[in-house]
Amino acid sequence: MQETFSGSFTQQLPIPEAGIEAATRVMQHGRLHRYNLGPGEVSETAALEAEFAAFTGAKYCLAVASGGAAMVISLRAVGVKPGDPVLSNAFTLAPVPGAIAAVGGHPVFVGLTPDLTIDLDDLEGKAAASGASVLLLSHMRGHICDMDRLMAICDAAGIKVVEDCAHTMGAFWAGVPSGRHGITGCYSTQTYKHMNSGEGGFLVTDDPDIAARAILLSGSYMLYDRNGAAPDAEVFEAHKYDTPNTSSRMDNLRAAVLRPQLAELKTACDGWTARYRVVEQGLAGAPGLTLPHRPQAEAFVGSSIQFLLPDWPDAAIEALVDACKARGVELKWFGAPDPRGFTSTYDHWRYADPKPMPETDRILRGVLDMRLPLTFSLEDCALIARIIRDEVERRGAAQTAAQ
Ligand SMILES: *Cc1c(COP(=O)(O)O)cnc(C)c1O
Repeated sequence: MQETFSGSFTQQLPIPEAGIEAATRVMQHGRLHRYNLGPGEVSETAALEAEFAAFTGAKYCLAVASGGAAMVISLRAVGVKPGDPVLSNAFTLAPVPGAIAAVGGHPVFVGLTPDLTIDLDDLEGKAAASGASVLLLSHMRGHICDMDRLMAICDAAGIKVVEDCAHTMGAFWAGVPSGRHGITGCYSTQTYKHMNSGEGGFLVTDDPDIAARAILLSGSYMLYDRNGAAPDAEVFEAHKYDTPNTSSRMDNLRAAVLRPQLAELKTACDGWTARYRVVEQGLAGAPGLTLPHRPQAEAFVGSSIQFLLPDWPDAAIEALVDACKARGVELKWFGAPDPRGFTSTYDHWRYADPKPMPETDRILRGVLDMRLPLTFSLEDCALIARIIRDEVERRGAAQTAAQ
């Protein structure tokens, strides 16, 4: 009798009771817009901004409508102009090159290593050759590169780093919170990320001028003194007549739902990483399968896991994905020739006119990806790993022998 799994890979935990109560209070008083205040009131959104600034150690924090909005606003606030080249990862999610395109920039993709981080040698070459002055760095699926080397490369080339931390909220590199190496850090609170408000996001920075421009861009209607972690009013004087309002605010209902989740974020992150370790251990040593190396300096959040089937033929990988699916285990494959669900790759973003990267293509063709929601128990994770291992073992020996 074959083991099967019946859980849902897309089912997150419910909103904490305190979040439901706070959201109900907001609906009862009706002041959902972040700048709509009762006498002496601090909005839920402003309170959340102050709390998220403290969580990351940033001076300034702006809550926005999505992670994508945080990236678009960051790029514009750091000065990307239409036609500018902007470096970014070949391995990331579609809204990342989308943010570059939204400000009229031209994405220049940087390759991928087998540890699923940005290829720093390729970055070094393209930093000089592309003429870019900004890198939109995506910590895709929570894999953090050697941030010390990355910052050295970018500092030497005069390149500003905007960090996409959609999968690293709560993670660290060498003790520094993810999002705090670059000039801005961008986070998402979309349902599948580390906090869930349906849609939403944050931008953090220590730079007062970037913070002021970002707040104006988000659509503050000159009510920026009601923000929760903003620079002093005089900083806005230099920017308020030159910065358009692009209406990307967070609202108090979402903020109310998020504040109790932020208070519990550390516990949630530990829960994801415990699940990751169970699956990682269950898959280690399976024939023909490799797992990305996780360096000591990387305190990651294991909300998803990736493994590689290097140089397996497409048909063998498709058969494995189908066999796992038949046993209730949903794997996503980054090697498919066309974009499926959340797994598009750089060569699908034709508007960006991507240049071929054969080594990156070779790695991507072997990348399998799986979510690990907190609704799974550690026993569930062990079962999932046994199912994948069993299906890999049926095929892996043949793949290795054929090479
Ligand atoms: C989800 C995600 C984003 C964007 O977040 P949204 O809130 O959905 O706009 C950016 N980068 C990566 C890698 C993501 O997974």
